[in-house]
Amino acid sequence: MQRATKIVATIGPASSDIETLTRMVQAGVDVVRLNFSHGKAQDHIDRARMVREVAASCGREVAIMADLQGPKIRVGRFENGKVQLTKGATFILDAACELGNQEQVGLDYKELPRDLKVGDVLLLNDGLIVLVVDQVRGSAIYTTVRVGGELSNNKGINRQGGGLTAAALTGKDMDDIKTAMSFKADYVAVSFPKSATDMEMARQLANIAGEPWNHRPQMIAKIERAEAIPALQEILDSSDGIMVARGDLAVEVGNAAVPALQKRMIRMARQSNKLTITATQMMESMIVNAVPTRAEVSDVANAVLDGTDAVMTSAETASGRYPVETVEAMAAICLEAEKSEDFRLDADFLNVTFTRIDQSIAYGALFTAYHLRVKAIVALTESGSTALWMSRHNIDIPIFAMTPVLATQRKATLYRNVTTMELVQSPDREQVLKAAEDLLLAKGIVRKGDMIVVTWGEPMGQVGGTNALKIMKVGEH
Ligand code: PGA
Ligand code: MN
Repeated sequence: MQRATKIVATIGPASSDIETLTRMVQAGVDVVRLNFSHGKAQDHIDRARMVREVAASCGREVAIMADLQGPKIRVGRFENGKVQLTKGATFILDAACELGNQEQVGLDYKELPRDLKVGDVLLLNDGLIVLVVDQVRGSAIYTTVRVGGELSNNKGINRQGGGLTAAALTGKDMDDIKTAMSFKADYVAVSFPKSATDMEMARQLANIAGEPWNHRPQMIAKIERAEAIPALQEILDSSDGIMVARGDLAVEVGNAAVPALQKRMIRMARQSNKLTITATQMMESMIVNAVPTRAEVSDVANAVLDGTDAVMTSAETASGRYPVETVEAMAAICLEAEKSEDFRLDADFLNVTFTRIDQSIAYGALFTAYHLRVKAIVALTESGSTALWMSRHNIDIPIFAMTPVLATQRKATLYRNVTTMELVQSPDREQVLKAAEDLLLAKGIVRKGDMIVVTWGEPMGQVGGTNALKIMKVGEH
């Protein structure tokens, strides 16, 4: 059985050598995430080159996702690196403060005081520290500590309920987009978008930066702001996919609201023909332990059952002790969860409406494959959209996207239940169909006499919409 759910792995110091990365890819990494919140441009350029090398040596495509830092609001630095805040004490966040101490600390986002009012609740360090705003005077925010703890250099700040006005793209993000396009990142993840406009702007910048290479990346909106929830549909419409970015999201909307939101986001994304990545703390304990907790196992399995395209690792693989084991464990959990899935394609189709020819063929292929119990569904595709539409519905038959376009091969590595393969196009239909069969035979996916369903655009060999579907017996034409 093939794994349908994809694995996005963040790489960092713990996984930036050829050997570790090779083992991770062999263990099942489909997409590598480069986190632009850390490291210099050159680090990302070097890592991207290594990903391409490792993928080539492993004989399969791996997509690269450049994750922009975005306007993450952070405290400045402390004289001694950190302070201990105690409940009931007063503490000042002052945009004008250079170096922090027990009384006050600086801010990287100088406009923060303007966004706040008395009574606002601020969550620092992913919500571990809670401050209540008593007064805002000039550049200074006077607060009382509600929940104390250790506060160290550059920890993040969120406001409970959202409402911070920082623009979604910073100057650094714009530079990072250029860096990411220089190595043709397949996906760009935008942090803290609030609206479709934020995503459209990011896409435009990425397309312009990618122009010299004729490269247009796929855009992922990280849903991690309270304001993004009511704007979810418009954000979906303007993106290629979303990330359920549970770290910041939980801080803004409250921990308890996140599981239900995750389910809603994945459902809405699939209905809108968009992708989803479920992220943050999935295997958190594997930063230091060789096995996950029972709760983490359940979390990954439940994301699979929610219908996510991919599960993601963060520090587990970027800086943890067990990057390879984390990927192995995730892959095993996904496979097992998929076995327990309940496939009801017909029920899934009750509310589907479509008018496009290519979409009709995609759904026709699914319906046929499901009822005839074929071994594989093959989409001969240029853009990958046929495979994307097919992959928005759960089916226990693997989908193969065969394409001559490298960018399509790479981006489709994120699509649930889709395996990508290179297939050269030609106007000779019989020859292409035979080549497709041969690919499946060579990989041991089908045997002579097995039935498969194939879709393509006629006439073959030119870019055009899918309009044909054939049910064939392998080796009999
Ligand atoms: P981050 O995004 O790791 O870049 O903060 C993910 C999240 O917030 O969950
Ligand atoms: Mn985040």
